[in-house]
Amino acid sequence: MDSTCFCIKCRKKVPYILKTRTIELRIHGDILECDEVFATCKKCGIELYIPEINDINVKLRNDAYQEHFINRHVDAFRISKDF
Ligand SMILES: [Zn+2]
Repeated sequence: MDSTCFCIKCRKKVPYILKTRTIELRIHGDILECDEVFATCKKCGIELYIPEINDINVKLRNDAYQEHFINRHVDAFRISKDF
C-alpha cells in the first residue's frame, strides 16, 4: 500500500502518520462520540486529505449512528416492557 501522499505545504509527496481522535456528532439533539482517523504530514505536520481515510471516517460515522439508533430502540423497548 502506498503510504505517501501529496502535501500542499511541502509541495511534494510525503510520508504520513495516521492518528485517531474523538469527535462529537450531533444528531436529533443528541451528541454522540465517534472515533475519526486522520493523517498528518511527517515533514511539516499539517493534516492531509486522503480520500481513502475519508471513506473510513464515513463508515465509522455510519457505524456510530447505527449503534446509537439500535441502543435507543433497545432502551425504548426495555422501557415499554417495564409498564
Ligand atoms: Zn508537509
